[in-house]
Amino acid sequence: MTTVNNFNFENKKALIRVDFNVPLDDAFQVTDTTRIEAAKPTILKILEDGGSVILMSHLGRPKGIDEKFSLKHIVNNVSNIIGVKVKFIESCVGEDAEKAVAELENGEILLLENLRFYPEEKNGDKTFAEQLSKLGDIYVNDAFGTAHRAHASTTIVAQFFPSNKCFGLLLAKEIESLNAVLNNSQKPVTAIIGGAKVSSKIDVIKNIIEKVDNIIIGGGMAYTFIKVKGGNIGDSIVEDDKLDVAQDILNLAKSKNTRIHLPIDVIAADAFSEDANTQVCDIYHIPDGWQGLDAGPKTNVGFSFVIAESKTILWNGPIGVFEMEKFAKGTIEIGNAIADATDEGAFSLVGGGDSVAAVKQFGLADKVSYVSTGGGAMLEMLEGKTLPGIEAILN
Ligand code: AMP
Repeated sequence: MTTVNNFNFENKKALIRVDFNVPLDDAFQVTDTTRIEAAKPTILKILEDGGSVILMSHLGRPKGIDEKFSLKHIVNNVSNIIGVKVKFIESCVGEDAEKAVAELENGEILLLENLRFYPEEKNGDKTFAEQLSKLGDIYVNDAFGTAHRAHASTTIVAQFFPSNKCFGLLLAKEIESLNAVLNNSQKPVTAIIGGAKVSSKIDVIKNIIEKVDNIIIGGGMAYTFIKVKGGNIGDSIVEDDKLDVAQDILNLAKSKNTRIHLPIDVIAADAFSEDANTQVCDIYHIPDGWQGLDAGPKTNVGFSFVIAESKTILWNGPIGVFEMEKFAKGTIEIGNAIADATDEGAFSLVGGGDSVAAVKQFGLADKVSYVSTGGGAMLEMLEGKTLPGIEAILN
């Protein structure tokens, strides 16, 4: 895998696709700088070599040019995090952009305007990509969050750098971490798949079933499995049109000798609310009028035991409705079990929007081996798909 470490950037201009799609509040202040910090090692490597950096990113989903989505709002954050005053230009291509790049000295950083102000970006337009390519000597892709999109800046632009292209350190780390879980993993391997619906994770489960020893199924999606196994799940969330899929997954797991671990008890509530009355129930006997919103105490012990025995752990999706304190315990206990196993030497990867939010909320982000930065991109890799942004660098 070719990364920025394989190049010397002295006197070179690096055109880097980063993922600076950060959240802004109503006053256009950045509320979470994780994505900017994640790009720092790549940017510093290039500057320390004696090169200059041209940063390109999208922000939000603008329909055409819209000041609300201008990357000018984040210039100060990038300057403070990298420790170099960042220059900004209100375009991505054309004369002004080329002039700004020509004037850029070694050690300097230029941030281009939001790529999605140009419809050509999402259309993967080749002419636009060629214009972008004029802004750098070496193309670096460090944007895992958009690596599953064949956009001009994430994929098409790489064609214009037949040999001068590479992965940034963040994207390389994401690929290595997923590889460490799916391909070069130490056994036993345990995947914890949670979240609301089985429908969004079917392809993930099918793809990993042969690669892992255990799959823990938690969260709302567990009830579709319990129903197909003949349980009474009360008013719990269920996808009746996916019962056959759940059965297929159970059959496939059996034929591949992969153990599927389902909850055995739940915290059932009489409403989807923090004020609801609750009771602990056997998951196969949830009374009508009640819905399971978190794993129960016996389940937490069982799941934690499986995790403690694992050498490689993947976690995607919460175990209960962790946004409500009353139903967060299952997710917290899973997180703690993963942190403990990591402390004992296991490799753990957490990915997907909600489980990443959970590990951050519960202070566990530093206690797992790696927290992925890309939700959709990570899911597609787990589904076994080749991501166009990654392929474009490898080819
Ligand atoms: P997903 O986006 O599919 O990963 O789902 C994440 C969402 O699933 C979170 O917002 C959780 O609150 C929700 N969730 C987890 N467990 C349950 C459950 N038992 N019933 C309803 N929603 C759940």
